[in-house]
Amino acid sequence: MFDLEKARQKGISEYQIKIMRDINENTIKEESCNKHDFYQVKVDLLYKYRCKNCGCIEDVSFVKGYMRGLEHGRN
Ligand SMILES: [Zn+2]
Repeated sequence: MFDLEKARQKGISEYQIKIMRDINENTIKEESCNKHDFYQVKVDLLYKYRCKNCGCIEDVSFVKGYMRGLEHGRN
């Protein structure tokens, strides 16, 4: 998790702070979810995946790793 206060003290721009805050909020959603159920969405012209259950948004490498983890966990 990003420490936003520390980032501010270091003089990081409010634009960057906002990005860090969004990432923190996404991490909280992602970690609080019992089971992700991803569907594809387009975010800023990029294809991403949003979970139907928690609303977190992840990129394809996260989703692929997650799906593989589920497959392996089943055996
Ligand atoms: Zn989820």
